[in-house]
Formats: sequence, structure tokens, C-alpha cells
Amino acid sequence: MAESARPLHFTTRAVTAGRPAAAPDAPLNTPVVLASTYGSFGELEYGRYANPSWSAFETALGDLEGGTCIAFASGMAAVSAVLDLVPTAGTVVAPRHSYTGTVARLRELEARGAVRPVWVDLTDTAAVVAAARGASMVWLESPTNPALELADIAAIVHGAHAVDALVAVDNTFATPLLQRPLEHGADLVVHSVTKYLAGHSDLLMGAVVTGDADLAARITGTRTLGGAVPSAFEAFLALRGMRTLPVRLERAQATAQRLLRRLEGHGGVAETRYPGFGAIVSIVLADAEAADALVHGVRLWRAATSLGGVESTLERRRRWAGEAPTIPEGLVRLSVGLEDPDDLWDDLQQALPTR
Ligand SMILES: *Cc1c(COP(=O)(O)O)cnc(C)c1O
Repeated sequence: MAESARPLHFTTRAVTAGRPAAAPDAPLNTPVVLASTYGSFGELEYGRYANPSWSAFETALGDLEGGTCIAFASGMAAVSAVLDLVPTAGTVVAPRHSYTGTVARLRELEARGAVRPVWVDLTDTAAVVAAARGASMVWLESPTNPALELADIAAIVHGAHAVDALVAVDNTFATPLLQRPLEHGADLVVHSVTKYLAGHSDLLMGAVVTGDADLAARITGTRTLGGAVPSAFEAFLALRGMRTLPVRLERAQATAQRLLRRLEGHGGVAETRYPGFGAIVSIVLADAEAADALVHGVRLWRAATSLGGVESTLERRRRWAGEAPTIPEGLVRLSVGLEDPDDLWDDLQQALPTR
């Protein structure tokens, strides 16, 4: 493409980023490269250091988020690698409604004196910035899972950088289609690739993206020595899923917003929570019994944890002991997929309490 060409749009880059150069007879996409070891004196050397199928995925996600991407075996491996940047006994400011695995990890690190978590309400920007004083890292997750609260990322980054704290953002729910934290000055982005990026409920993977070369080298070092490397096949599948991220998420988001309007008018739904974008909707029913009746009453929706797949799933979050006690017992998180919106609504309606 000519140098003067204007930058390609996001949807185009989702399809083209990280693909091999055009050449006669070359595969259009990087195949699954199964190798534990490579010929010496090149760039790869050993399967724990690098893999061409990871690299294709990393180039693509790095392009979409605007930084250098390092892929991991799971979202939690990526979360752990970023928390490893915190010096011993350093303070981490984190939302009280962070993903349950992140909360559990921080508590476990705290129990052995590795970090000192300070829990905040991430919607209270002034409180988050005040807590950042003396902290090594501000951890953000926006929207939060499943409370669906939003952080003012740019304002928090501004305040945190003024006191020399790193800012990491778990961008799993928004995806780079809807939110790019590095553009707001964040130092690190974390993904559970398992969810929207891969999008088909068939693999686990994680990723860290950063615009800072030193942080990228440290995160890569943690992956190499920690050993939480993705498999080549899963990296291949994740990239294949990511090629269709814009069409999947735009469609799911449109359906979520249609369902939201109907749920808001339903007498059996006490409260709806929706951050204004994305395809996750949380609804609050009268109590745990009503929520369980919905989860067990649906036929098209699938009762399942996790989210971001082509199929619509739902879950009463407080069935997990690790879920925050401030999440209502009757809260059901809906992950809206790609089925017909009317079919999804008919199924919800027959299973929802009448009032
Ligand atoms: C699922 C999830 C994770 C953890 O990812 P895994 O791939 O399950 O290890 C982290 N953050 C958020 C917001 C998630 O939804």
C-alpha cells in the first residue's frame, strides 16, 4: 500500500493485521506451527520462547490495541504476569468489583506479603486517584464483571502518573473495538482472550499489551520463565476468532440493546445494568430463587459461566462463593450471542417471573 494511504479502519485491520506477506502459493494465514525446538542461530530457538502461530496472533492484537502484545496460556496467566511487575509488598489499587479470579489472586498475594491491595469503588475517580498516592500500580477493569461499572480511564491515568503509579486495564469486556486504554495513556492492557477475542467458547488464552518497550521485555521474561505459554493451536484459533470480532460484537451489541429495552419494561425485572456499550447485560430479579428459576427455565440460552461466545449464556453470579457480597443475590449476567433477537426474547420471557 502507498505510503500516503490513510490508515486502515479497525474492521479492516481485524482481518489483515498479522497475516503473512502475499506470495504465490503461500497460505493466507499463518498455519499452526507445532514445534518444541527450531534450528539454531535464528529468532525462535525454543518453543517456550516463541512460536510463529503466537506471533501472528500477537501482531494482530498488538495492532488493534496499539502496542506490543505478549500472549499467555490464559487470562489469569496474563493477570498474574502484570501483578508480578509490582515490587515486593508494593500497593495495588484495585476495584472491589474486579473479576473474581483477580480478587482471589490479589488476596493470595496479600496473604504471603507479596502485595498490599487497596480496594476502591472505581466509579469514584477522586477516590481512586487519592488511593494511587504511594501505590505501585492502579488496576482497572472497565466495565467491571458483573456489576458493569465504568472507570474514567483518562482521568485516573492522569492522576496515577502524577504519583508514578503504573496503570493496567483489564479490557476483556470492552475489547479494542469499543475501548483502547493505551490511547488514554494506560501502561498495560490485559485480556482474557478466552472471551470476545476468541469468541467461540472453545479455548483459553490471555494477553498483555503495552506501549512501553521495557515493560514488554519484563512481561516476556515472566512468560518465558513462568512458562504459562499458549498452545500454537489455540493461538491459531484465537486469531481466527479475532478476524470476525467487529461483526460479532456489533451484532451482539445491537441484540443486547434490543433485549435491554424489553427487559426494562418487564415487571419481573427489578433492575437492569448496562454500561451503554457491549453485549453483556446484568439484570436483578427479586431474589436468588427467582434468578435460579430463570437460569433453569431457559431452553435456548445456556446456563454457563464465562461469556463472549457466539452462543448466548447466562449465570446467577452469586452462586460462586468468591463473588463480591455487594453483588445482589438475584443478579443474572446475560452474555448476548448471535442468535435471532426475537428467539432470545421469547426464551427469556417464558422463563422470567411474571412480576
Ligand atoms: C474470564 C476473565 C478473566 C480470566 O481469564 P481466563 O481466560 O479465564 O483465565 C480475567 N478478567 C476478566 C474480566 C474475565 O472475564
